[in-house]
Amino acid sequence: MSQFACSADGRRIKGSASTAYVALVNGSYSSRAKKRFCEEHGVAFRFLCDDLAQLVWIDEQSQIDEATEIVTCYRCGKDATYTLFLDLFLRGEPSRAFRARYCDTHVGDVSQKVSVEP
Ligand SMILES: [Zn+2]
Ligand SMILES: [Zn+2]
Repeated sequence: MSQFACSADGRRIKGSASTAYVALVNGSYSSRAKKRFCEEHGVAFRFLCDDLAQLVWIDEQSQIDEATEIVTCYRCGKDATYTLFLDLFLRGEPSRAFRARYCDTHVGDVSQKVSVEP
């Protein structure tokens, strides 16, 4: 049994945890969090990642889509100031990296969903 508590429900994780690294970056400012999830909430977080950002990398398949220069907000297409980095290591699955950019208007909603300060 793992000694870690699930970031979603606070309950002790049975078996090995899934891990997520979240970072919200605006120039030299950044807000970061590491989360650990039970199996159920790890899967739930993956759906959240799919909703919030573009999958740019998955191991076992060297490249998906080179989202090299995403400059506009993922929600509205306007100029973005924030970059969201989501790296997800789900138990028993290949690791995934998600990226998206957000404008000042839409970053609030996103930061709330992933629980980091904008
Ligand atoms: Zn959980
Ligand atoms: Zn926007």
